[in-house]
Amino acid sequence: MKKLIAGNWKMNGSLAANQSLLQEILQGLGQAACDVAVAVPAVYVSQVQGLLQGSAVHLGAQDVSAHDGGAYTGEVSAAMLREFGVRYALVGHSERRQYHGETDAVVAAKAQKALNAGITPIVCVGETLAQRDAGETEAVVKRQLAAVIHAIGACTTEIVVAYEPVWAIGTGKTATPEQAQAVHAVLRAQLAAASTQAAKVPLLYGGSMNAGNAEQLLAQPDINGGLIGGAALKAPDFLKIIAAAA
Ligand code: PGA
Repeated sequence: MKKLIAGNWKMNGSLAANQSLLQEILQGLGQAACDVAVAVPAVYVSQVQGLLQGSAVHLGAQDVSAHDGGAYTGEVSAAMLREFGVRYALVGHSERRQYHGETDAVVAAKAQKALNAGITPIVCVGETLAQRDAGETEAVVKRQLAAVIHAIGACTTEIVVAYEPVWAIGTGKTATPEQAQAVHAVLRAQLAAASTQAAKVPLLYGGSMNAGNAEQLLAQPDINGGLIGGAALKAPDFLKIIAAAA
């Protein structure tokens, strides 16, 4: 399977910074052997669509509404994002679950709305440190993924899943390749129970993935790419991770 390296810019950027970051990435990219995407703040979707025109880098959003339209102040629908060429949308990132109270049911509805609009949801799952210490990692990620599988049924093969242990996000503490692979194997088995095509679903690792550790993580059999936060904001680092995914 072709690997996928997706940058998650989070709430970073400006018109000028986006332009220079993408210019440097596109100049250094060459013929990437993997798929590449950047998930940008909603307000920059239009700008970045223009900057990526004619390039191999796909456009992503960081969130999508669980509703189709109407009286939902502040929300952006999947159909709106699709109009601007958005190809991927993160759903259920731990920062959305933690700071915006997104439940498994809401995350599942968002995945469904993305799929309906022709956008591939990147479904994020992951345990907190307390949950890992309590031996609950497997149960937590399975519960999070189960809600999505239940909602989308036969579309299960059309999603991307990102395993992001919360304790590794933005902390500089990366899961070891073995720790990450163990969870990815659990997710793969869960997908296989839902679909005979489960091997087609890219499973990304995220959480302090960087230019130094990407190669080892990406060498694991069930790690098919990365969701990159901090290191996606520095073109040389992002390009090294892309090169490691060849
Ligand atoms: P990080 O973030 O690479 O900065 O840890 C990853 C993410 O939250 O998607």
